[in-house]
Amino acid sequence: MTQRLVISAKNLGEFAYRDPCRRCLWVRLHVKKLPYQAFPGVFSSIDRYNKAVVSAFYKREGHAPQWLAQLGDVAENVTPPHYTRFSVEHAESGVTLRGEADAIFRLRDGSYVIADYKTARYTQGQEKMLPLYHAQLNGYAFIAERTDFRPVSRLALVYMEPVTDDAASEHPSTVDQRGFSLSLAATVVPLTLEHETLIPRLLELARAMFDTLACPPGKDGCDNCTALDRMLAALRGDDP
Ligand code: SF4
Repeated sequence: MTQRLVISAKNLGEFAYRDPCRRCLWVRLHVKKLPYQAFPGVFSSIDRYNKAVVSAFYKREGHAPQWLAQLGDVAENVTPPHYTRFSVEHAESGVTLRGEADAIFRLRDGSYVIADYKTARYTQGQEKMLPLYHAQLNGYAFIAERTDFRPVSRLALVYMEPVTDDAASEHPSTVDQRGFSLSLAATVVPLTLEHETLIPRLLELARAMFDTLACPPGKDGCDNCTALDRMLAALRGDDP
């Protein structure tokens, strides 16, 4: 019998890299809780704050902030469903895909835009992450089209870049009695919609990797796995 596999849209995105480490993919599917995975809490707080700021603005002004104008003519700021209610089973691969989008907007033409906020500079380094993010957001579109949010007409990343130039740090309003303020400036990066072709292919890859019994070898010369091998040898008491 085929074993049930549930994967998040973000983890599925790892299968979209051109030359992913097969060991990494295997480990992520088979080991649910990895050690040393602490995500700096401040990023979660900024993420939550980002969503709260947009919601509060929309409630107060009746439209989206100007820096989201590229997303289209927004008619409603939808509260994204929790991942337990935003999931779909892909019958062909037997994989359940789930996730929780940062933002879903209904446009005046009745279609939906799905966006994800990233607290980062949009630099060349970030471009390396694009295959993952592109697949992640297409994963949300794949789920959305099969739940209550269809059609999906656009996908976008919204990079929120800390404004840390001299003008900002020297401005008198930056400092108050409690501390200082840090502005975040938005850059909207549209992504292409390919959910109906890309996602089934990635789900099949995830299924094939999940069904592989032995963990594949890691990438040659990867420092982390070399360190892990050394740690395991030390724990076993092997001769150094
Ligand atoms: S080789 Fe590197 S990328 Fe692959 S599993 Fe090990 S640490 Fe991860």
